[in-house]
Amino acid sequence: MSWLKNLKPGGKPEPEKPQQETYPLVARQVWCAVCNAYTTFTRVWRRAALVRKCSCCGMVFEDPELLYKHFQPACPHCREPLEQPNFDYGFCDRCGSKFELMEGAKPGLLPNKRQRDEMDKHGKSWSYS
Ligand SMILES: [Zn+2]
Ligand SMILES: [Zn+2]
Repeated sequence: MSWLKNLKPGGKPEPEKPQQETYPLVARQVWCAVCNAYTTFTRVWRRAALVRKCSCCGMVFEDPELLYKHFQPACPHCREPLEQPNFDYGFCDRCGSKFELMEGAKPGLLPNKRQRDEMDKHGKSWSYS
């Protein structure tokens, strides 16, 4: 079974390590427009790279750069808003809504599937601001 040993990396840095897409950030207090209150956001992160796979429907984007040419990039299949590099995002602990967190600005809601369906029903469209 000597070949098994050869497969071990042996402490060397792994080649072809995929680029880390997001970096976790510390929890913070954020104004949640859905709860209409300041709530704690425990899951907060900064996106570093383009979204290559839809977190909602699982669709793999063959050419994400093309989607990001739009002002508000979204999944062409289910319209899930795509996170943009160098922006912070987080989930409201209380209602689970996802927000884009901008320094010195109101957090922008990124509606999930259920929220998008709800808005469609009422004939409303959504935007980041
Ligand atoms: Zn999708
Ligand atoms: Zn909330």
